[in-house]
Amino acid sequence: MNAGIISVGNELLSGFTLDSNSTWMARKLLDFGITVDLKLTIPDDEGEITAAFKVMFDRCDIILCTGGLGPTSDDVTKDAYCKYIGAELYLDEDYLTDLQKRFERRGLTMSDSNREQAMVPDKGETIQNSLGSALGLRYQDGERRIFVMPGVPSEMKRMMEETVLPELEKLPREELHVTTIRLTGIMESALYDQVKDLVNNDVVKVAFLPGFLGVDVRLMSRDKESLLELSGQIFDRIGNYVYAEDWETLEDAVGRLLIERGLTLATAESCTGGLLGSRITNVAGSSEYFLGGIVSYSDAAKMNLLGVSQETLNQFGAVSEETAQEMAAGVRKVLQSDVGVSITGIAGPSGGTEDKPVGLVYIAVDVAGDVASRRFVFSQDRRYNKELSAQAALNMVRLSLV
Ligand code: ATP
Ligand code: MG
Repeated sequence: MNAGIISVGNELLSGFTLDSNSTWMARKLLDFGITVDLKLTIPDDEGEITAAFKVMFDRCDIILCTGGLGPTSDDVTKDAYCKYIGAELYLDEDYLTDLQKRFERRGLTMSDSNREQAMVPDKGETIQNSLGSALGLRYQDGERRIFVMPGVPSEMKRMMEETVLPELEKLPREELHVTTIRLTGIMESALYDQVKDLVNNDVVKVAFLPGFLGVDVRLMSRDKESLLELSGQIFDRIGNYVYAEDWETLEDAVGRLLIERGLTLATAESCTGGLLGSRITNVAGSSEYFLGGIVSYSDAAKMNLLGVSQETLNQFGAVSEETAQEMAAGVRKVLQSDVGVSITGIAGPSGGTEDKPVGLVYIAVDVAGDVASRRFVFSQDRRYNKELSAQAALNMVRLSLV
């Protein structure tokens, strides 16, 4: 069973509105094992919408359409739908009375265009809208089904959850298994080189999804055993870089490991200005293991708050492995944590030298006096350097705990 989604609206084509509806719908369908094979984004134009229905009907068992159902003159989806299924509009007196009551309750008077909302097709069914006045539409021809819903995301979601998904759930369908392996600290190309002989697989579809903080590898299959086998094989080769599966974030994974090990964490940040602490505290329940952080931007703060020595700063500089190590040890001592993690670097765009270029970052992790540190050279972009530093620091904490 497959599906197609039609998103209607000039604003989607002009780039003013992000088509989040179709993404949300596709994710929901996937949970039911229904794949979306086609999406079309169509202007508020009756002819174009009718043409889209034709294209979809030839290829998809289920058609979901959103947008352009409202009462204004640019909303033409209902007309296109009627033309496509060969229906005429008539006034649904019951719905009109219902609408009138709803307006009265809120002390509002109905306009002509509000009344238009009670014009319904004489074929197919309508779908109740518990959040707005535009009715959804449903039409079935054999095994093919069309559902038309409003563009307002909250109304569309409510209709999907109340009416559409419960109907689709009852249909006979094959299960679809999905797993996402999340990696950081490895480039997509290097990752691909290590697993390329595994991923040309007919039974399991593999997608590489690079982001600037890491790569997600998504596996999808109708066969659970094959999916588990392949994910196991991938893990055997590159498990070191895997921080989580599915929706877990790196900060979630770090929190989980700290809880498992019964350890507490404190942060000492320079160039990230608290971003690492912010990431850590994104996790609900982080108070269980995160004791606090010190943002020591200046040399004086590094000395006074963390006990970094004057000699270290003079001899090696604030951006050095030695300083990073003393920061990590210092924050662990000051905040009495089991693990201390520190970041010191040159975020840019200025402040770089030949020896110490923009993007140079040292990160240290001190676990009960055992210090590991690393040198990174990230990018020229200040924001990227901060994000990449926080990510690398979280990953180093993770690696110190596995
Ligand atoms: P209304 O009854 O409010 O007019 P409608 O069904 O006519 O609803 P549209 O006019 O197409 O819907 O869109 C209403 C609002 O919903 C738009 O302002 C837009 O912000 C949002 N919207 C429409 N389509 C989408 C979409 N595909 N993804 C996200 N938001 C959308
Ligand atoms: Mg509208």
